[in-house]
Amino acid sequence: MTSKAPRYDVPNAAPESLRIVQTFVNTVNLERGDDWLADWFEQQGVTASRRELERARVVREAVRELLYANNRQPVAGEPSWAVLAAAADAASFSIDLARPELVARAGGSDGAVGRVLAVSFLAMLDGSWPRLKCCRNHHCRWAFYDNSKNRSASWCSMQLCGNRTKTRAYRARRATAAT
Ligand SMILES: [Zn+2]
Repeated sequence: MTSKAPRYDVPNAAPESLRIVQTFVNTVNLERGDDWLADWFEQQGVTASRRELERARVVREAVRELLYANNRQPVAGEPSWAVLAAAADAASFSIDLARPELVARAGGSDGAVGRVLAVSFLAMLDGSWPRLKCCRNHHCRWAFYDNSKNRSASWCSMQLCGNRTKTRAYRARRATAAT
């Protein structure tokens, strides 16, 4: 499906704890259609079947919706809580109080997706979650980490999306003004 190498982190990488969420969400280039989810699973030590990939893609897009909401963007309808809850069930979480850690006891793809959900859950509790966002450019929706002081970043990259979108808006305004 793809000849391009994954570029999960470009351009604003999340800190280590949240990276797994960012790299999971960034396994598809929505503008070009390249999909690296199978590669991502391989990196997690899992060879995912076609069915597992399909299921994980649904979860990936549900997580993306949350990151889009973190960018104060309207999500059509309710976020896909049922999808996320089902994925959490499949991960068979238990609590390790010694570490302390939320542990996905399931193996395979369910366990790998579960690790993404566990990190998301803990980030929601520790307050770091709102900084992980999806680009405001709806065609892009690339996951990036907002390092700005006031958490105001909207674009994955000003060069890649911010300026391009602004140029488009400018052209649209000019076209409207001309008619
Ligand atoms: Zn973008």
